[in-house]
Amino acid sequence: MVNPLPNANVQSEAVSISSDTGDVQHFIDGAFVSSASGATMENIDPATGQVYGSIAAGAQAEVDRAVEAANRAFSIWSKMAPADRSSRLLRLADLIDTNLESLARAESVDTGKPIALARAVDIPRAASNLRYFANAVLHHHSEAYEHQQGASRALSYTLRQPRGVAGTISPWNLPLYLFTWKVAPALATGNTVVAKPSEVTPVTAHRLAALSLEADIPPGVFNIVHGRGDEAGAAIVAHPQIPTITFTGGTATGKHIAATAAPMFKRLALELGGKNPTLVFADCDFETTVSGATRAAFANQGQICLCGSRLLIERSIFEKFTDAFVDRVQSLRQGDPLEESTQQGAVVSLAHQRKVLNAIDVARQEGGTILCGGEAAPAPNDRCRTGYFVKPTVITGLDEHCRTNREEIFGPVVTLMPFDDTDHAIRLANATDYGLAASIWTNNLKRAHHLADRVQAGIIWINCWLVRDLRVPFGGMKQSGVGREGGAEALHFFTEPKSVCLSLDE
Ligand code: NDP
Repeated sequence: MVNPLPNANVQSEAVSISSDTGDVQHFIDGAFVSSASGATMENIDPATGQVYGSIAAGAQAEVDRAVEAANRAFSIWSKMAPADRSSRLLRLADLIDTNLESLARAESVDTGKPIALARAVDIPRAASNLRYFANAVLHHHSEAYEHQQGASRALSYTLRQPRGVAGTISPWNLPLYLFTWKVAPALATGNTVVAKPSEVTPVTAHRLAALSLEADIPPGVFNIVHGRGDEAGAAIVAHPQIPTITFTGGTATGKHIAATAAPMFKRLALELGGKNPTLVFADCDFETTVSGATRAAFANQGQICLCGSRLLIERSIFEKFTDAFVDRVQSLRQGDPLEESTQQGAVVSLAHQRKVLNAIDVARQEGGTILCGGEAAPAPNDRCRTGYFVKPTVITGLDEHCRTNREEIFGPVVTLMPFDDTDHAIRLANATDYGLAASIWTNNLKRAHHLADRVQAGIIWINCWLVRDLRVPFGGMKQSGVGREGGAEALHFFTEPKSVCLSLDE
């Protein structure tokens, strides 16, 4: 299992960003292009607060061009033997591996996340996504039934055909990881793609486009339009020639997208926000749980949809666990994301830093007690003196009804609440509009099964967190999303089933 809070005993790399460029262009029909209007946006390094590149800002015109190219390419790509598509995607995965170091560095600079995390998790997972779906599509089988009605016999089977151009929209927290999580199954099943990464973190998608040329992916098969969500993103969602939309992002954006896509009868997958509980029972392995709960809360500065931001702790160990947890959180090394030993980097933007600090103020107003953190962190070095850092924050003394315990903060902020028994733990775990993930820490197997059955979440971890088998369905219930990604679910999502019945009568 990879540890998203890396430890310090790795060799230090000199911090130099001279070779890093945040310049980004659209990738349409196999070529890098600017916006027709010439519009651009600034690309900001969150660790320094400095502009380090310029991003082409696309809108309707770029989406139209990309869709045109993708439609043309569809007739070639969808007819290509799956093994040929697969070998190109496998090559792309290999190229990601070859470029691991520079991609990890680009991801760290673009997002503010620790470089060790990008190297251990983000980039390897992007390669795994491509490799998994490139292989899965070769082994995916269709169904066939032989049946008899009176004296007549027939064979029914299902064809699964690619649906055309898929629109993929992904967020800033795990940029290349989530970008490829959508693009890989879409391409593997023979669809072509118009993708929009977050404007906040577009660099690794841009680099992937260059690698796709080396992987011999034909022009037009894979297109990227950069730009603001309400322009480029909205144009993808509303485009009449994009029948399939997959979106990962906030619940409010998801609602908006659903309202546009539903009357157009588009197929839509929504992976949205979370307010995930971490349930700690008195019989847990104490040290493992303190460490697991810390990772679950603060990996990637708490900016993972699966982060456990509500810690529910059995009352008999509440005080002891709280002390140990706060100690552990205070020992996290906050630093320059490009330093190898850094465990907590910057949050992704100034706007996000303000949002997180504002949520901490709300917690104070609601009567919460800040046990540690609660404010912006001082700059870790001179290079980062104008960066966006927030101290890992632990809050207690709030009940399940307050905003702090109901609204997603998506930053390094966690609340602690005690529970009395299993039923109480389940009530607290389910006291939110979200239902994405939960982790349960106990040595009582029977209780763990019972909780897995009762807690309302699409993903349940027992004595672990963020361990992912790409074959299992991934997604949330309630306001955490609609549909599932991963494994066969993704292969089904990107294909249209067609049932064919063949008479076997002579
Ligand atoms: P947003 O919803 O703001 O943005 C997600 C993506 O949608 C971005 O590419 C954004 O573009 C784009 N977008 C914004 N507005 C529109 C629109 N009107 N039409 C089409 N596209 C649009 O989310 P964040 O990027 O802030 O990501 C954080 C959220 O993502 C959190 O709520 C988190 O829980 C959720 N998330 C969910 C995951 C899951 O698997 N369930 C995984 C990871 C994150 P731009 O950024 O350029 O404006």
